[in-house]
Amino acid sequence: MRLTNRMLTVYPRLGGPLYKVDQVPEEFHESFIVKGYRNPKSSAIQCILSVFDANNETLNFWTHFLPCWYFLWVLKGLSEEIDFWNDPYSWPLLTYMLASCAFPMASAIAHVFNTMSDKARHVCFFVDYAALSVFTFGVAVSYRAYVFPDALRQTVSVNVFVIGAVVNAMLCTVVSCHSRFMTPSLYPKLLRISAFAAPYFYNCSPVIYRLLYGTAEELAMESQYYHFRQFIFIATSAFLYVSHIPERFYPGWFDIVGHSHQLFHVFTILALLDQMRATLMDQEHRRPYIDSIRDYPSAAMCLGLTSLVVLHNALIVLYFSFKLDNSQSKTSTSQTMLSEPAKLVQTKEEKSL
Ligand SMILES: [Zn+2]
Repeated sequence: MRLTNRMLTVYPRLGGPLYKVDQVPEEFHESFIVKGYRNPKSSAIQCILSVFDANNETLNFWTHFLPCWYFLWVLKGLSEEIDFWNDPYSWPLLTYMLASCAFPMASAIAHVFNTMSDKARHVCFFVDYAALSVFTFGVAVSYRAYVFPDALRQTVSVNVFVIGAVVNAMLCTVVSCHSRFMTPSLYPKLLRISAFAAPYFYNCSPVIYRLLYGTAEELAMESQYYHFRQFIFIATSAFLYVSHIPERFYPGWFDIVGHSHQLFHVFTILALLDQMRATLMDQEHRRPYIDSIRDYPSAAMCLGLTSLVVLHNALIVLYFSFKLDNSQSKTSTSQTMLSEPAKLVQTKEEKSL
C-alpha cells in the first residue's frame, strides 16, 4: 500500500516527525525503504508513542508484540491444566513456552527503542538476537523431550543433542552480534541468517528424520503435518528477509505497510504457531510411551542449561555493547557530523507541514 509523505502528515504524530531515507544517518537506512523513518535521536517516550503512528517500524512492533501476548495466554491456559511445578515431564514444555514468549517480546522492544541513538539501535538488536538464541535452545529442549523419533531416543545421539544445542545457541549470539560491526552489505545479513539457520536445522534434524524415516505409527501422527508445514513458513520468512521483496521492486510503495520485514515477522510467527501446535500434540500423545521408558528430562537440562545460555548471552551482549563504546569513541567526530543533518532536516520538514 503506497502512503505518500503528504498522507503521513495529515494527522498529528505522537512519536515526532518522520524522515526520508536521505535525511537519517546511514546506520538507520533500511534497504529499499524510502520514507517513514523516525528521528534517529528519539526519546524513550517518543519511541513508545510511535507504535501508535504510521511509520516504517509500527507493524514491525505489532507483528511480534501481539503474538507474544497470545503465547502468554496459551501458557496461562497450559498452567491451569499442567502441574509445571511438580511434573518433570512438563519442564521442557515450560522452557519452550517461556522462550517462545521472550523472543517476540525482545524483538518488539528492539523495534520500538532502536531509534533512541546509534548505540541503542545496536544494543536493541543484540538483545533481540540473544533472545532468539535462547529460543533456539528452548526448541532443542522440547524436541529432545517430546519430538525425538523412537529409533534415536535410546541412542547416544539423544544425549549429545542438547549439548550441541547449547554450543549452537552460544555461537549464534556471538556471530549475529559480531555481524553488526561489519560494513552493511549482503554478507553480514547472510552471515546473520546463517547463524540462526545452523541451530534451526540442527534442532529440526530429529523432525526431518521422523518425516523421512519415521515408523508407521510416527508417520500417522497428527503432528507430522504441522512439523512439515512449519518448514514452508520458515523458508518463506528466510526468503523475505534476504530478498527484500516486495519493496525491492517498488521502492516507496511498502514503506509503512507490507514491506518484507513485516512479512518476515508474520511468517516467522506462523512457523512458530505450527511448531508449538506440533510440540503440544507430541507432548500429550507420546506421554504413555515416554512414561513407559522413563525417559524424563532433568532439572539440570531444563533449568541449568537454559540459565547457562541466558547468562552467556547476557555477557555477550555486554561485551559487544562495551566494544561499541570503544568503536564509537574512535568515530565520535563523524557521529557529531551525522547528528546535524537530522536536526536541520527536522526544521525543513516542519516548515513543509
Ligand atoms: Zn524484526
